[in-house]
Amino acid sequence: KLSIRLETVSKYIIKDSIFADIGSDHAYLPCYAINKGLAKAAIAGEIVDGPYQTALQQVKEAKLENKISVRKGDGLEVIEANEVDCITIAGMGGGLITSILEKGAERLEGVQRLILQPNIGAHHIRNWCVQNNWELINEEIIEEDEKIYEILVASKIQTNESYKLTDASLLLGPFLMKEKNEAFKKKWTEELKQWKNILEKMNEAEDPDKISERKEQLKKNIMLVKEVLK
Ligand code: SAM
Repeated sequence: KLSIRLETVSKYIIKDSIFADIGSDHAYLPCYAINKGLAKAAIAGEIVDGPYQTALQQVKEAKLENKISVRKGDGLEVIEANEVDCITIAGMGGGLITSILEKGAERLEGVQRLILQPNIGAHHIRNWCVQNNWELINEEIIEEDEKIYEILVASKIQTNESYKLTDASLLLGPFLMKEKNEAFKKKWTEELKQWKNILEKMNEAEDPDKISERKEQLKKNIMLVKEVLK
């Protein structure tokens, strides 16, 4: 059975599309999506040999070799420009996901939708979206097995219109901060507690009036999150 996390990712795959799942590991997501008729065909990309072999095995066992192509390579290297409509990248940090998108920028040609599931650091992805003309069209935050996950869905902007996000929505997510569900409140209440602790420790260790970039950033984030949670 597929995790709720990956099932949530699968909901946003464009119907009848060809999609690439980058960092596919066991290829559970492509197998599920094809079996459920959510997509026409898929590419499972993996950089590490172990998971790549597991993906090959999984696709073979599911008898989906004619629909899922398992490829070994770094990030978007496994796809050609205009080969897929949609890309999923799940289960990594937001920084790593962003660096995969940056490195493979020219392979994003023809891609209409990105479905990204960062384990941490979703703000890296939102920043990338704003800078690269991708608009967030939906976001989800869910809790599964005591862990909280965010799912970001972005669509390529076709017009010259510029897409902007406020500082609060870059950090918290424009859709998520509007919805403010239980998982959201839990995640940010926890973050807030940690940040306050760090700030307190910093103030104990040095002159509270000393200004440092890290401290200012912390204070700013605390203010932004407090404002949204209240
Ligand atoms: N996507 C699956 C999921 O969400 O359950 C697997 C997540 S697993 C934690 C991350 C996978 O990404 C690992 O199998 C790792 O080898 C792969 N990976 C990391 N960096 C990668 C890159 N630059 N290109 C392709 N795969 C990568």
